Parts: sequence; C-alpha cells; structure tokens
Amino acid sequence: MARRPLIAGNWKMNMDRLSSVELAEALVAKAPKASDSGPEILICPPLVYLDVVEKAVRNTGVALGAQNVYHEDKGAFTGEVSTAMLRDVGCDYVILGHSERRNILGETNEVVNRKLHAVLRAGLSPILCVGELLEQRQAGQTQDVIRSQFEGSFAGVTAEQMMGVVIAYEPVWAIGTGQVATPEQAEEVHADLRKLIASRYNAEVAEAVRIQYGGSVKPDNAATLLAQPNIDGALVGNASLVADSFQAIIAAA
Ligand code: PEP
Repeated sequence: MARRPLIAGNWKMNMDRLSSVELAEALVAKAPKASDSGPEILICPPLVYLDVVEKAVRNTGVALGAQNVYHEDKGAFTGEVSTAMLRDVGCDYVILGHSERRNILGETNEVVNRKLHAVLRAGLSPILCVGELLEQRQAGQTQDVIRSQFEGSFAGVTAEQMMGVVIAYEPVWAIGTGQVATPEQAEEVHADLRKLIASRYNAEVAEAVRIQYGGSVKPDNAATLLAQPNIDGALVGNASLVADSFQAIIAAA
C-alpha cells in the first residue's frame, strides 16, 4: 500500500497566542478535509499554545502534535509534560529526538528511546528525528551515525509498533541554514534507513514506515525532494511559520 505523505510544521519556540491561532486558522481554511486523499497535514506549536490551537484545528484536515514530552506518566517532574497531558489537549503526534534537543539540550539515544516507549504506550504517533552533523558527513560517517541513532533510539520496539512510527531524516547542517540536502543525498539516507528497518524487522514493516525529510524545505525545493521514492513527507521549520509557504509545500506533496 502506498505510504501517505506527512507534511509537518515544527513551530519550535516561535509565535505567540494570537499568531498561533491565526496561522492555524489560515491553514485550516485552505487544507483539504480530513477524509480527502493527499498528504496528511500536521502542526506542532509550542506546548503552551496547544490548547488554543486545538480549538482552531478540531475536526479539520489539520492534525496537532507536540515538539517534546517526558517519559514518565506523572509525578514530581517539575516543568515536564506527560503523554496523557498531550492526549488530553488533543495531540496525535509527538516529535522526538529533534537535533536541537539532542545537541542543545543533551538528549541521548537512551533518553529518546525512553520517550519513544512512553509515546507508543500512550497510543500517540511518534516522529523520531535522526541526522548527522556537518563534520560527521564530511568525515564520511553519515551511515554509521544514522545506524547508531536508529539502533539506540528504536531499541525494544516491536514490529507492530514500528509500523506506526514516523522517522524524520534531518541532516543537522541543513536545519535552519537554507542549505538543503540534494534530493540524491536525502534519498540515499532514506533508502539506507529503509534497509535498516527491513533487516531489523522485515520488508512489510520497512514498506509501511514513513520517512520524512527535514532541513530547509521550502516551496521551491519541496517537489523534487518529495518526488524521491523513499521520501514520504517533510518536517518543516521556518517555512511552516508562514501560511503561504507551508501551503505551497503541502501543494508540492
Ligand atoms: C526543523 O526544525 O525540523 C527544520 C527542518 O527546520 P528548517 O525547515 O527551518 O530547516
């Protein structure tokens, strides 16, 4: 069965209450209905605006996701948010292991793996990010880095759980830099990831898993990236903050 592309906007630590609602409403106004074929559309606002944005996207063709979560279910974890809380405010998806969390906030593969298991237990859909640094690519280590992030982050995940996982390949050097990976560079890593899934699980699981590309996706480069056989959508940062550019990326899918 063909994989349905997922176009996701990661708003990061941007926007305020009013602009969050306005952007969500602008996207909803032009988004195809939930039942339509075509790409699945997702927005991931900052945690504090999930609730107001949920009201704008409820029962529309735009789904809601969070940018992070904590792995424990409840308790004395000051400042953290649980999977149940995300479900309670209407989230379907959670981004995990974004390179900014790995590289700025020190999240290791083990931390990402604990979060992944919590998300799967809660019935939320994870978008788990992997990607190499510029110096790793230049040193010819891309394949090894991706393999070790894949093995560490997905440890203990069953084949059945894996079928519902989304992976985002995000070369760190391409995030927020305007320096997008070429379609060939991205496709090579996506195809490798699918091989890793096939050898850990089986061909059926590998065919089911959606692998998004992320890193300076813009309206003018989205179509050629999304035309690659193993690229099943995009995780979009900057260009998701402006309705017209995010819509143009959706249209390219
Ligand atoms: C991201 O934050 O996941 C991302 C890909 O950002 P940008 O599109 O701005 O490079």
